[in-house]
Amino acid sequence: MRIAIIGAGSAGLAALKNCSELKNEDGSSYTIKCFEKSDKIGGTWVYTPQTGVDRFGLPIHSSMYKNLRTNLPKEVMGYPDYPIPEIGKSYMTRSEIVDFLNSYCDNFQLREFISFLHNVELVEPINEEKNGNNQKWRVRVKNLSNQVVIEEIFDAVMVCNGHYFQPSIPKIKGNDSFFGEKMHSHDYRVPDVFKEKSVVILGAGPSGMDLALEISSVAKKVILSHHLKDPVLTKFPNNVIQKPDVLEFGRDKAIFNDNSEEKIDFIFYCTGYKFSFPFLAKSCGVKVESNMVTPLWKHLIAVENPSLAFIGLPFYVCAFSMFDLQVRFTLKYWRKEKQLPSKAEMLAEENREREEKISRGFKTKQFHQMGPKQGEYYQDLSETAEIKPLPSVLTKLHNDSSKRFLDDLVNYRRDRYKILDDDNFVQLESLPA
Ligand SMILES: Cc1cc2nc3c(=O)[nH]c(=O)nc-3n(C[C@H](O)[C@H](O)[C@H](O)COP(=O)(O)OP(=O)(O)OC[C@H]3O[C@@H](n4cnc5c(N)ncnc54)[C@H](O)[C@@H]3O)c2cc1C
Repeated sequence: MRIAIIGAGSAGLAALKNCSELKNEDGSSYTIKCFEKSDKIGGTWVYTPQTGVDRFGLPIHSSMYKNLRTNLPKEVMGYPDYPIPEIGKSYMTRSEIVDFLNSYCDNFQLREFISFLHNVELVEPINEEKNGNNQKWRVRVKNLSNQVVIEEIFDAVMVCNGHYFQPSIPKIKGNDSFFGEKMHSHDYRVPDVFKEKSVVILGAGPSGMDLALEISSVAKKVILSHHLKDPVLTKFPNNVIQKPDVLEFGRDKAIFNDNSEEKIDFIFYCTGYKFSFPFLAKSCGVKVESNMVTPLWKHLIAVENPSLAFIGLPFYVCAFSMFDLQVRFTLKYWRKEKQLPSKAEMLAEENREREEKISRGFKTKQFHQMGPKQGEYYQDLSETAEIKPLPSVLTKLHNDSSKRFLDDLVNYRRDRYKILDDDNFVQLESLPA
């Protein structure tokens, strides 16, 4: 079996680790190739001051900013078989995460499988009529160092290209006539650009909240505009205020839903990202509809062609552990140790979940959002494929830390946790201010 893995971020590494351990019936290893367009592992965790395009004219992938510290404790950020070691704190810096990913990569000797500076340009099924389990794939890759394009055939493809690189920017009345500056958080690196500015931040997701705090140290005024039901309770510095959604922009002002106005000179879009798979041919049978990747079985396996899998689509999760679980799940079916349900059953299941989420007030674009219910997803994957589950303590600790984030944005990263067993954690004495 020949497997292609697209991307060597934390999802691609989990894919590589599990795939590289597989053996054919005659004891030989599988042929595994991981294509990574940059020259490093780690994906979005690899900081670059650059924005726009790279030296090959490709869009910069990473959305990392210089001062980023994780918004989850390290106790829920490791891999199931490779936790993050004790370091005296729970919230790590971006470079500590990159070091961790490099140690994972070296510990399992994964680097030899990675072709760096190889950009996947096209993935297409070879025989469009022969849909189904045994579909093979043509993968076209450009070696960026010499511009040579190669094509290879694979039995299966794991897509691990991340989903925080294609900015989503809402259309708001007056957007184009605004005279000041604009930026999406994808291009944010350091706070200096906001010095002495009055900035409206659109969006109070993890980035909007974190960056409101970070830029408030240099900006004149920060207006956090969002549509959360209630104002965020955390105690922000005095130059940060909260407002409802923006109704309209004027040349130098924002008008909000409550008809109040603020003079501004910078719009900072913290409005999230779109799922994007620029290399997927239409004939793959997977599309992005209102930011839902579909049709997929369990957010993961392409219903039309199950030898195509997407690792890492769900968000607000314990990412690295979930990647490992999703890869182990996929391999059970690819190795035919479990039989896939019929296409009709997979589609019906996706539909049921979509309707259930909509009935809970979710929008289609939130279909892959997990949050407090992530534990149910993990349990479903492990029970369905009869594979080792993720411990419930991960979800419990994730939920606790998310609550602390909302309640006390300024101090929550001083918290320290310790996992006691599969179900329990304790909070240790916090780090000093
Ligand atoms: C600012 C920010 C902060 C975050 N903070 C946290 C946090 O605190 N805790 C947490 O758990 N998660 C956090 N996340 C989520 C983070 O995205 C995940 O933890 C995880 O790193 C995603 O890994 P990935 O491998 O799916 O994607 P990525 O890390 O994006 O990796 C994808 C890889 O694929 C490569 N690639 C893409 N297209 C191609 C192509 N066509 N050909 C070849 N290679 C390609 C890219 O170069 C990249 O290396 C954060 C995300 C962002 C953006």
